[in-house]
Amino acid sequence: MNNLKDFTFEQLEQFLATLGQPKFRAKQIFAWLHRGVTSIDEMTDLSKDLRNLLKQQATVSSLKIVQKLQSKIDKTVKYLFELSDGNRIESVVMYYAHGITICISTQVGCRMGCGFCASTVGGLVRNLSAGEILDQVLFASLDIGERISNIVLMGIGEPLDNYENVLNFLKNVNHPLGINVGYRHISLSTCGIVPKILALAEENIPITLSISLHAPNDVIRSQSMPINKSYDIDTLLKACRQYLKVTGRRITFEYAMINGLNDSVDNAQQLASKIKGMSCHVNLIPVNAVSESSYVKSNAQAIRAFQQHLEKKGIPATVRRELGSDIQAACGQLRQQHEQKS
Ligand code: SAH
Repeated sequence: MNNLKDFTFEQLEQFLATLGQPKFRAKQIFAWLHRGVTSIDEMTDLSKDLRNLLKQQATVSSLKIVQKLQSKIDKTVKYLFELSDGNRIESVVMYYAHGITICISTQVGCRMGCGFCASTVGGLVRNLSAGEILDQVLFASLDIGERISNIVLMGIGEPLDNYENVLNFLKNVNHPLGINVGYRHISLSTCGIVPKILALAEENIPITLSISLHAPNDVIRSQSMPINKSYDIDTLLKACRQYLKVTGRRITFEYAMINGLNDSVDNAQQLASKIKGMSCHVNLIPVNAVSESSYVKSNAQAIRAFQQHLEKKGIPATVRRELGSDIQAACGQLRQQHEQKS
């Protein structure tokens, strides 16, 4: 059965044409879907006959909230959602001065195997469909009763390992008949699947690319990120420069600060020389301790020294503010906890 939310607008038009429907139906149905309806019967301006016809061919996906945690410190909300097949994913809603941001998942589990990450512990279960990725935005927004203005693809999964579905999601979420989130308000984070970064550059969708770099050289990066053995730092940075050239969008580098591993001033120096001259921004993230690994976050002094060194070299660097620290808001932690219990 087709999930109507998996179609792009053009695919929906084509699908409806096969059912003998006029073009304007796609507009009507697309708008309903993006308002968060959970069944075809809720589309009350379609005739009963058409609804019955649609029901024979298609469904409308929805998500069940299994658990919702809200931070008492900063209002951050973390959802554990259940998909129609019983698999579970996480999404996090964050309140910033510039608007409400949601961090969404793109896969159930992940096969990238990064040593510090809770999401990859059980491997990849399956990709999320475009509609299932969108559902996180729709249902979180309905639940909080507010518009979500920014989206980060930084939850569970590697977005570029689910390229086609992620791309269809991006087109739909940006669509004027949908929730219409501007591409400039969307960030996609990747561990560095180079061919897909190059493909994304050609799509003409000016989203921000975030690169999970986490190391200043290949020796350190290969220790915790297996992807580095396929595409080393220089190859990755070359792809980033290409992305920048084609899209004009400044690259963000994410750098998890791990005590004693990648946080010395020497490491900052190496990092600076690698990315020097590039329009970019470095986001320093004190690593979150996850029970599956022994990594410990850098101390505040080391983080400040690292940041200052980058800035001295003309590279803008910020330290990520920790949100939702009382609700395990970091990636994959909640799902993992549930798996262990059940
Ligand atoms: N797979 C994608 C997106 C998901 S992870 C990627 O690799 O970018 C979102 C970010 O959280 C990534 O930068 C990831 O490396 C980082 N991350 C994972 N585990 C972490 C941890 N324990 N502490 C800090 N950052 C972590």
